Amino acid sequence: MLKTYRYPRYEYRRPPELDSAPPSRRPVIVVGAGPVGMAAAIDLTQHGVPVVVLDDDDTVSIGSRGVCYAKRALEIFDRLGIGDAVCRKGVSWDVGRTFFGEREVFSFNLRPQPDHKRPGMVNLQQYYLEQMLVERCVEAGVEMRWKNRVAGVRTAERSVSLDVETPDGRYAIDCDWLIVADGARSPIRHMLGLDVEGKVFTDRFLIADVVMQADFPAERWFWFDPPFHRNQSVLLHKQADNVWRIDFQLGWDADPEQEKKPERVVPRIRAMLGEERPFELEWVSVYTFQCRRMQKFRHGRLLFVGDAAHQVSPFGARGANSGIQDTDNLAWKLALVLAGQAPEQLLDSYSEERTVAADENIMNSTRSTDFITPKSGASRTLRNAVLQLAGHHAFARKLVNSGRLSVPSIYTESPLNTPDADAFAGDMVPGAPLDDAPVEVDGQASWLLDQLGGRFQLLVYAERAADVDTSTLAELKTATPIEPMLVTAKPGGRPGMRALHDVRGRFLERYDALPGSAWLVRPDQHVAARWRRLEPGAVRAAMARATCNP
Ligand SMILES: Cc1cc2nc3c(=O)[nH]c(=O)nc-3n(C[C@H](O)[C@H](O)[C@H](O)COP(=O)(O)OP(=O)(O)OC[C@H]3O[C@@H](n4cnc5c(N)ncnc54)[C@H](O)[C@@H]3O)c2cc1C
Repeated sequence: MLKTYRYPRYEYRRPPELDSAPPSRRPVIVVGAGPVGMAAAIDLTQHGVPVVVLDDDDTVSIGSRGVCYAKRALEIFDRLGIGDAVCRKGVSWDVGRTFFGEREVFSFNLRPQPDHKRPGMVNLQQYYLEQMLVERCVEAGVEMRWKNRVAGVRTAERSVSLDVETPDGRYAIDCDWLIVADGARSPIRHMLGLDVEGKVFTDRFLIADVVMQADFPAERWFWFDPPFHRNQSVLLHKQADNVWRIDFQLGWDADPEQEKKPERVVPRIRAMLGEERPFELEWVSVYTFQCRRMQKFRHGRLLFVGDAAHQVSPFGARGANSGIQDTDNLAWKLALVLAGQAPEQLLDSYSEERTVAADENIMNSTRSTDFITPKSGASRTLRNAVLQLAGHHAFARKLVNSGRLSVPSIYTESPLNTPDADAFAGDMVPGAPLDDAPVEVDGQASWLLDQLGGRFQLLVYAERAADVDTSTLAELKTATPIEPMLVTAKPGGRPGMRALHDVRGRFLERYDALPGSAWLVRPDQHVAARWRRLEPGAVRAAMARATCNP
């Protein structure tokens, strides 16, 4: 099979534990150098926590897997230091179109609002994303151990012990906390006999990555029952290097081995693209999908993230996107616990917040999969009637579901939130991820989200920086680890205080800001609390609540 991408081989190094008697002990070990494990490792390292990553392989993800990375994941990548690289290499898009037969019946725009730094979605082959993450891990100082397979795990009250197999033999290593990012089959989950619950879909999809020159727009195109693949669905996405991802629904009875053969694949692609268009196959696979999750993501000192904790069908691009959000939620909490600044109970909120997010993802992904693969003749007739009507009636368009794409979860019910005491309009409720806005800092153009994250911050809105009583903020800054910051309608700053000029009034609009309004922002850029008037006591109480400090 033709491959345009050259898979890197990362060097295996003999681990020092093979030559020393007592096992060494590390604060955090991550098992799995997939996108989620590496995001966790970079985030923790940025918090000053030394991290070892163990992976049984020595390269990036092989073949066709993740493609679409949503705006929220891109914002997290910005904080991890790879946002620009991902967006430069990937293909940005906002518009998706759904066809029934040859007729367009529905379209959506993922970024209807202007003035956000990142687009609705960027398409990039998973191998490129992982390569960028490996490079960033190395740059950040993460200790990467390739060809290190975890073969055994023992848990104790205050530690976790691992047996690790390498090309040079077995060694033991201990850690305070283990982040389990070993993927959907999660050997560690099996070793500990932990269950995942959910369902497997009885359908098969052929996924072909095709290299071709084509001037189709950079949009997501989805067909129900197209003339070139009758009674099934097809999805088309553009990726980097003129590689196009085509998903053909095959039905449950299809033979996966037969369907992967070029003599079966090529005619399907020709029927779609026409006989004249030259193309080469980069990769072909046949998949089935599952929607399931573990009951909880924290088991003592083991913290499950990404596919190890939950799996969804790819219709909605919620797999890696939600895994990256797991680590965004977990890293700051674990860093505070390790620093002795929060009790272990804070880590239970990781499980509480992210199992709710997983349920949302599973619900959306299951609904899409049910619409795409109806379970009975009657549901297919109903589905086709909806598609038929959608061509003419707006109400039916809302029912068309070719994949509701990944959006971040709002932790509305989180115990870390301080409920509103004052009235606010808009979406920036406690638990919500922050909306972006263009700002100027010291006269330089920037973005709100580029100024936030990694620590607790307090945003205070004012007409002018000079209007703010900075003595209260200075007092908060000395008494708590919160960084105060001004957002102002007019340009100009105050000595010793970061000031963001709301250059196009988007902050005012999106945050329903009034002079004196304040927002306590978590290190993962979610709202913890907000007020119309700043009271240091209320801020301290909200901070204690957001970190489980009584
Ligand atoms: C066809 C398809 C399309 C997809 N499209 C999208 C998409 O568009 N957007 C999206 O967000 N997601 C998508 N996904 C999902 C995405 O690929 C996964 O969610 C993502 O790879 C999960 O990352 P992870 O780090 O949790 O696990 P993985 O990527 O599976 O990584 C697990 C790592 O653990 C290592 N490992 C396993 N066992 C051990 C062990 N015992 N010791 C040491 N290391 C071990 C493995 O080698 C691997 O490197 C798609 C998936 C498929 C199959």
